Amino acid sequence: MRSSHLAAGLVLCAGLAGAADLLPLGRIPPGKTVLVIQPHHDDHTTDYGMGGLIARFVDEGYDAYYVRASNDEKDGNHLPAENDIINLRESIAATRILGMKKVISLNWRNDYMNPIPLDELRAQLILLIRKYRPDVVLGHDPWEHYQKNPDHRNVSRALAEAYWLAGYANVNPEQLKLGLKPWAASYYFGKARLDWGLGHRSNIAMELNESQVRRKEQAYQTHRNVYAHPDSARAMKAALAREHLYIPAWEGLDDQQAAVEMEEWYMNWISRVRGREAGVKYAEDYYFMDEFDYLPGLKDYLKHNVEKQ
Ligand SMILES: [Zn+2]
Repeated sequence: MRSSHLAAGLVLCAGLAGAADLLPLGRIPPGKTVLVIQPHHDDHTTDYGMGGLIARFVDEGYDAYYVRASNDEKDGNHLPAENDIINLRESIAATRILGMKKVISLNWRNDYMNPIPLDELRAQLILLIRKYRPDVVLGHDPWEHYQKNPDHRNVSRALAEAYWLAGYANVNPEQLKLGLKPWAASYYFGKARLDWGLGHRSNIAMELNESQVRRKEQAYQTHRNVYAHPDSARAMKAALAREHLYIPAWEGLDDQQAAVEMEEWYMNWISRVRGREAGVKYAEDYYFMDEFDYLPGLKDYLKHNVEKQ
């Protein structure tokens, strides 16, 4: 990692300690150019957009450029070619309101960015970083959770790589023949849709009754090729014996029976633990999404406004 990033991070975070539950406030870093690299024409908008920060960068003296990686042909109520043109036009108008100088379109096909060569997209972004020489790159965080939009996933991944690699002369050296020079942007702001879920932590528990737990345990034990092998009981007995310990409940059981007894216990244990976390006897936990979860603002609106007919 380049040391300039580390130093910049320290400067930005210095003296920002706040209350334990509050995020520290960031600052606009020193510089004059911000390159906003996004999958779509409208990613500066919406409840998860970054239009406010773009406007603030402009207010604080930055030149701002908007890169839209896709052609946005699926976004709208017209034929693909018409959507592309209308969305570009609206993007130019909207970014002007934010004070941005230019919209650059890479025109990858909207919603079909999974099979594209990521190195090629990355090379385009490296070229733009070397051309515009931004102090700040603003995009999506490629490590955000539950991002189901293929364009967001791929552009943010290519961007994180480009941000890192654009400063190295031996990456895409063919671009240097155009008169471009390696350029390492000092700062990266990555927006993430954390309202889609904080990591892989479960958000619901599904209650189970005794019979369901029993059948789950039996099904587990049916996989005798991989579970409850007598060797596991033998190894456990040997480990305990080294500490002069033993399990009285295993008296009279052969190794196979002891292995079953042990694994039945901990299969039952996990159902009880999950149940306790939800205030019931037995449960399993899941990450659940309903049809409005991808629009948390709309979900909140419905929560406050919907009534029974
Ligand atoms: Zn988007």
